[in-house]
Amino acid sequence: MNDHANKSIKCTVDSCAYHCDTKDYCSLDVIQVGTHEKSPEVEQCTDCQSFEVKS
Ligand code: SF4
Repeated sequence: MNDHANKSIKCTVDSCAYHCDTKDYCSLDVIQVGTHEKSPEVEQCTDCQSFEVKS
């Protein structure tokens, strides 16, 4: 059970291994955000690159 919530990083991706199980926050101290586009223009172009699928 991962119940640590970093209140500075809100997140709703509950399939991520770092998602707080009890609240919509990330449990990491810091995350990396990046993009898969050459010229990102909308929010869908950005990615949390710290994501790891929950096993
Ligand atoms: S690592 Fe990224 S996707 Fe995973 S819980 Fe944290 S903010 Fe969300």
